[in-house]
Amino acid sequence: MIALPRTRVGLAVALALSAALLSAGVPAATAVGGLGDPVFPSLGNAGYDALAYDLSFTYRPDSRTVDATAVITARTSRTLASLDLDALGLDVHAVRVNGRPAAFTTHDEKLTLTPDRPLRRGAIAQVTVAYAADPRARLPHTGWVPTPNGFAVAGQPDSAHTVFPCNDHPSDKARFTISVTAPDGLLGVAGGELTATEPLGDGRTARRYTSRAPMATELVQVSVGDYTVRERSGPHGLPLRDVVPRARAADLEPALALTADQLAWAEQHLGPFPFEAYGILPADTDDPDAFGFTGLETQTLTLYKPGFLRRPEPAIGSHMMHELVHSWFGDSVSPATWADLWLNEGHADFYGLMYRYERGWPDAFGYTTLADRMRYVYGLGDQWRHDAGPVAAPTAATLFDGQRYTGGALVLFALREKVGADTFDAIEHAFLRQHRYGNATTADYLRTASEVSGQDLTGFLTDWLYGRSTPPMPGHPDWKVGPVTPPSATARGMAVPGDHGSGTL
Ligand SMILES: [Zn+2]
Repeated sequence: MIALPRTRVGLAVALALSAALLSAGVPAATAVGGLGDPVFPSLGNAGYDALAYDLSFTYRPDSRTVDATAVITARTSRTLASLDLDALGLDVHAVRVNGRPAAFTTHDEKLTLTPDRPLRRGAIAQVTVAYAADPRARLPHTGWVPTPNGFAVAGQPDSAHTVFPCNDHPSDKARFTISVTAPDGLLGVAGGELTATEPLGDGRTARRYTSRAPMATELVQVSVGDYTVRERSGPHGLPLRDVVPRARAADLEPALALTADQLAWAEQHLGPFPFEAYGILPADTDDPDAFGFTGLETQTLTLYKPGFLRRPEPAIGSHMMHELVHSWFGDSVSPATWADLWLNEGHADFYGLMYRYERGWPDAFGYTTLADRMRYVYGLGDQWRHDAGPVAAPTAATLFDGQRYTGGALVLFALREKVGADTFDAIEHAFLRQHRYGNATTADYLRTASEVSGQDLTGFLTDWLYGRSTPPMPGHPDWKVGPVTPPSATARGMAVPGDHGSGTL
């Protein structure tokens, strides 16, 4: 079910056939966009591996626009006459490749660069793109979250390239350094650690942030606003850094104070927190036009809608746990393709729900135990498979449906019922260890589950993840799957929880 490697081979053959013969006699491919992701086929670009991004953003308060420079260091995997980056809505002024001006064109969400000489296979290339962007621009899709005095970023799944030109596919993780220049009175922030603060002497300050671990483009956070930074200490002295709109800081303090205990609980289940720091960034807007979801797991700095965090703990705790768990499932171990999204969302919901019921907080349906909630979701199993496809086979239209969230949690519940809680925990730890700071496919999870449990779970999990009908639930022969009816507004409504929806977590 993994289309990516096959597609890459197909692309390579096609490119070899169309390769131009250059004067040097070296066939140079023109990189045609798209890695063939099962959900977003045109996302990402073949022919190179992005190693590092050095991004600089300067916010202009008068126009509320951003001037930016992206320096991308990449290693070519074949000789390239030109190179594609994903880009949409960027006003590109100039491009350099290895220090020399290069020709460029934009088309179909791609920025195609043509250097004055081909890039040899295996070479390290440095691409510099100078551009401007308007966070308020109306685009077909956008990763910008405009706020009254700045912006934040929400690139998941396919919109980081409206913020910076990139190889915008989670399989190509890279190192990131991000500089943000903002007028004094506002604060520029990004994920990672603050490594330099430079007053520019003209009423502006540049701040530089470095991420220690590799990051997927969809997980980049960079923001400017009237912020105050709240620092505290988590388990083992882990630095916690919340970036909070100054005017909302007092209101949000009760929610932000919950993180340390949530981290301790998550570490008990998942092992040590994988990054150098954690924190929450409540953006300075609740406008549903600015962003239509509750929270997003941008790496080391989770983006939130501030209004949500003003609710009492039983109404937000499981969702905060969901976003925190993404540091392990989603950020440290990122999906190899978007069809593997259930690995993120299923795990985040599974632990978020467990956290809720351990604390005795009834869910939106009135259930107070994981088993009762799972029995309810199980009853909808065939309906969800009909409406939103199998758990590990989403389309772009159904990607963020409940099937990837509580539907994914149901698969994990079934696995735990089959192998027992201790073996399930061992599978989870092995999977996180094996793919730490990298990517994993659904097949990788199946392989780890079989290896660790000592039983071949391939058929069992394949039925749960790809089957058109809901398998029997181990240990619960009395659980019944309800009939499939034509998709109704009610069914669709129940199938859109999670990060991007109202949250029936
Ligand atoms: Zn999530």
